[in-house]
Amino acid sequence: TTLSPTLVAHLPTGLLIDGHWGPASGRATFEVTDPATAEPIFDVSDATPADAVRALDAAHAAAPAWRAVPPRERSELLRAVFVRLISRADDIAALITAEAGKPLAEARAEVVYGAEFLRWFAEQAVRADGLVRTAPSGGNKQYVSRRPVGPSLLITPWNFPIAMATRKIAPALAAGCTVVVKPSELTPMTTLLVAEIIRSEAAGRGLPTGIVNVVPSTQAGPVTEPLFDDPRLRKVSFTGSTRVGQILLTQASKNVLRSSMELGGNAPFIVFEDADLDAAVQGALVAKLRNSGQSCVAANRFLVHDAVARPFAEKFSAAVGAMVTAPGTQPGAQVGPLINEAAVEKVTDLVDDAAAHGAQVLTGGSRLDGPGHFFEPTVLTGVSADARVVTEEIFGPVAPIVAFGSDDEAIELANGTPFGLASYAYTTSLARAQRAMDEIEAGMIGINRGLVSDASAPFGGVKASGLGREGAEAGMEEYQETVYVAM
Ligand code: ADP
Repeated sequence: TTLSPTLVAHLPTGLLIDGHWGPASGRATFEVTDPATAEPIFDVSDATPADAVRALDAAHAAAPAWRAVPPRERSELLRAVFVRLISRADDIAALITAEAGKPLAEARAEVVYGAEFLRWFAEQAVRADGLVRTAPSGGNKQYVSRRPVGPSLLITPWNFPIAMATRKIAPALAAGCTVVVKPSELTPMTTLLVAEIIRSEAAGRGLPTGIVNVVPSTQAGPVTEPLFDDPRLRKVSFTGSTRVGQILLTQASKNVLRSSMELGGNAPFIVFEDADLDAAVQGALVAKLRNSGQSCVAANRFLVHDAVARPFAEKFSAAVGAMVTAPGTQPGAQVGPLINEAAVEKVTDLVDDAAAHGAQVLTGGSRLDGPGHFFEPTVLTGVSADARVVTEEIFGPVAPIVAFGSDDEAIELANGTPFGLASYAYTTSLARAQRAMDEIEAGMIGINRGLVSDASAPFGGVKASGLGREGAEAGMEEYQETVYVAM
């Protein structure tokens, strides 16, 4: 890795509870590995269920003081953290690349994106508006206000180590909620560093300790489960697989917890017959290869009109074949390793299955020899709409192309999935764009764009892709109760 020894010497590797760093109660640790080498790079404290309960104790104890801090001061804390994250962007990017593998340039872009949640919610913290209305009968006034929902459990995945954490922590703090964060055991280091920056900034301002607590653990289920039985927990926000989201929703039903769920996707990328093919190829590269395809909004299926299927496939596979697959620290690297061996095996399996059912491999198709978890960026054509590589979430750098014959068929294929997170459509026709906007069953639709994420926009899905939104005004409402008073 390219981590500086000074950075490494100052990185926290323990649990953050009530403003103090310490070991796990059993003193156990676990290894974090570099996906580019498969070598261990850090030892992190492995929280136990008792540690998680201590973290909730701290979040609960800090809650009254934190919600009483004036919105302007909460806002200024978030703004100061934003400034510190940006000023340390190179360090944080190096850490993201070390534990998650993505190319340094992408890691740096993630730091900018992730830090933006602090800035955006700093701006929202002072705008927790309510309303006053005259009842339609004219008999009374209605007074509607917002309150922080209370101590919140935030469970994050490994694919965007800073952004997935800040997208939840920033609106929670802005709304006046305290939090317990359970980062992914594959990439806990970035969250620990962000938490330390928040801790020290809050301490320097004399703000309550214990507003952000972090419990990395290899036993995600056992560690978080007791919190769902505890009436002090008022909210869960989760980003990860639909399978785990369903488990958490069941657990959340016990105390009827407010729940936000950002779950799996199976994004269609539609290229209509009148699309600008060069623009579509550029958008497809971003939508498919950002983070080596390990994103819940990654294009999973390329639905391309028969009339342009061949030229699109040729241009796209040439562009994909020219991508530089290398360790994220290598200058010029464009596609980094997958997160672990299981990911490589899953992707290999999906490609082999498609090939066995008649798909042609236009470029790529196999893992790279040597250390680390690398898979070649791959384009498959002649894939049937019911192939596993089309119906399952790939989470890797593989692009299956499925041809369609009419707009109706494209929309039907796009919607033929239990998921509905992101979707993309390329067309130069306003009418086709409008139809895609109206009829694709997805929470996010990119029209002639391969990237939809933005701190100021509501990110989230429909159908099995989840509940609630992150970012935008909606992202803060997830951490607020609405209280109505009839006067
Ligand atoms: P991914 O496939 O993206 O790793 P997961 O859903 O497996 O998604 O994991 C996302 C997050 O959920 C991680 O922080 C992981 O540790 C956590 N997690 C996994 N299983 C459970 C569980 N049973 N209860 C709570 N958290 C879990």
